[in-house]
Amino acid sequence: MSAPRILVVEDEVAIQELLRYSLEQSAFQVVITASAEEAFAEIQRRLPALVLLDLMLPGMSGVALAKRLRAEGRTRELPLIMVTARVEESDRVQGLDLGADDYVTKPFSPKELIARIRAVLRRRAPHLAGDPIAIGPVRLDPASRTVTCDGREVSLGPTEFELLHYLMTHPNRALTRDQLLNALRGDHRFLEDRTVDVYIRRLRAGLGPAGDNLIETVRGIGYKLSSHRE
Ligand code: CA
Repeated sequence: MSAPRILVVEDEVAIQELLRYSLEQSAFQVVITASAEEAFAEIQRRLPALVLLDLMLPGMSGVALAKRLRAEGRTRELPLIMVTARVEESDRVQGLDLGADDYVTKPFSPKELIARIRAVLRRRAPHLAGDPIAIGPVRLDPASRTVTCDGREVSLGPTEFELLHYLMTHPNRALTRDQLLNALRGDHRFLEDRTVDVYIRRLRAGLGPAGDNLIETVRGIGYKLSSHRE
């Protein structure tokens, strides 16, 4: 899997540079935008793993962008950390009310910020946090990009790998094709609805009989990976 992409929305060049350096050092991909408008356009193109949002911006404010993201289905669940120079308690409360996952005030320590980003990703987007995961006979390690089923190594294409990773980190839930596409779209923005079915078919074939059993088709909805089945 490619490194999680962090979208930075920040108009101060010095802070942009500090964030780019710290994030890249920690093996994140970084996209910098200098306004909420620019960030919104970038998010429409491709979903980042997480948005680091400065509140005080020229033009549309960070608060307005956060509201807009939370109002749309595609971005409602997008992990969001607000960054601001303002330190008043009322701002913090407002930020969290808007659905921010965390809130960081300037000046911040890059080390602490990275730790918070990882914590939010682990909680909100476990498929991007990089932890190994095992369900039933299947074991997946994002760091080495390996999958084993009953101890036998399984060879999967990059999209099938990401799909399996997402299913394994969201078990026992009927996931719609849209949800699955959104999870993949970060890197595969030209996929269409029915393409999911093709990748699921390849994924099941790759896993063999155990995989067929693990990934259920939920009629009229999409797919579900059950952790209680053997
Ligand atoms: Ca600013």
